[in-house]
Amino acid sequence: MKVVLRQHPTYTIADIDDFDALSLRRWYDNSSSDKDDEAALGVIKSAHSNDGWIACDCLQGDHRPLLAPVRQSHTYTLKRLSRAVGDPLARSDRPNHAEGCPFRFDREYGATKADIRFFLRPVIPKNTSYFDGLPAVADKIADRDASIAPVAPTRSDRPSALGIQLWRLLDGAGLNRIPPIQDQEQIPKLTDQAKRIKAHAKSLKALRTWRLSSLLSTWATDYFDETSFWQRNFKKSKPDWPSTQRPTAFMTVSATGITESKIYPASLAGHIDVATRVRRPLRGDPKNRGPFLTIINFDDGDDNEGPMRAVQAYAQPVYSGDTLYPVESGFERSVLDFLIWAQAALAKAAPFMKIAIHKPLFAVSTEDGPCRPDFILDISIRDRPAPRLIIEAMGFDTDDYEAAKAATVPRMRRIGPVFEIRPPQISEKNAAATSKLLLDWILANTSLA
Ligand SMILES: [Zn+2]
Repeated sequence: MKVVLRQHPTYTIADIDDFDALSLRRWYDNSSSDKDDEAALGVIKSAHSNDGWIACDCLQGDHRPLLAPVRQSHTYTLKRLSRAVGDPLARSDRPNHAEGCPFRFDREYGATKADIRFFLRPVIPKNTSYFDGLPAVADKIADRDASIAPVAPTRSDRPSALGIQLWRLLDGAGLNRIPPIQDQEQIPKLTDQAKRIKAHAKSLKALRTWRLSSLLSTWATDYFDETSFWQRNFKKSKPDWPSTQRPTAFMTVSATGITESKIYPASLAGHIDVATRVRRPLRGDPKNRGPFLTIINFDDGDDNEGPMRAVQAYAQPVYSGDTLYPVESGFERSVLDFLIWAQAALAKAAPFMKIAIHKPLFAVSTEDGPCRPDFILDISIRDRPAPRLIIEAMGFDTDDYEAAKAATVPRMRRIGPVFEIRPPQISEKNAAATSKLLLDWILANTSLA
């Protein structure tokens, strides 16, 4: 590979050595090490500052496939200058990369093994009342969170520190628990759920002198309103931030959709642009992941003098557009449908039996080690607690997944009996049978059968 002059790709500026070229490929392919990222960043930065493009050597001939270095505030990335395969607007002097070259497709953001592994490993809750702001500005390569670098198998993965922060809010506000039907006075409104997040944020701190709640908005419109209480608070807080952190404002909003760099809040016609990739869980069908609850961190622009800029974001899929109940995939959403149905059916058939549906966001400890079940049914019968029941949505069928489940399911059995649901069981054909199986299983395990 080489660096060529922008708009004049026949003019070579510099050759890229084999190690750097390999690092660049690995970075693009999401299989890089820290060392690769450093090398890739070096190549992209130098191409950018020399007004160059990068010519790939996967094709021989007069016209090589080209990549343009892109700098977005403090983040560098590469943009393909070839059209997609079959695009009628493709130019003959801008061929696409060869089959097998990682640059042949737009970068698959986030398909890292770490992200997938993460769901199989429990995260231990953080025991602190502090909520992290953004680190001080540093040049970095796009889209690789250092904290998800290759991990030792014994420790917990942390795919997105921001995602964990959102979980702390959801968990603290109790939004990952659907109370028993008998205790539900009315169907909770979205605004009430947002208020619970805000109320919980009062117990957390962004800085020693600032409660999180003062710097957290649950209204997307605040972003567009400089006179909002939230923006005014943020400006006021700026002198109080230590030099190791950028002054940060936080927002949690429901979103109907996201792209790699945009969030479409449910309450707005417009969108919020995010400077880095919007992170999200990667389980299941990409088309079936929204709606979302998003958490967004804002700073005050490159020079810290405004306007506010969304720097990073994490999008947690939620059950439906009018709840903030977290799920991790479309399949989990379908499994939850079954559980909610079972909850209602049993409330009718056995009104003295109360079932709450809990989605643990953090690890539950057992004698054999930590685990994180997909759902726990907390049941009481005539106000006396019954055994806890565990529902696992077995949505993947890869070897890695099976191996990880083989390790964690025995731990879950320490908490209570485990009911596994796999995708074929929720098909239209099998749904009725699965429903019956689930009800019978709940009754049998609570000694009511
Ligand atoms: Zn190529």
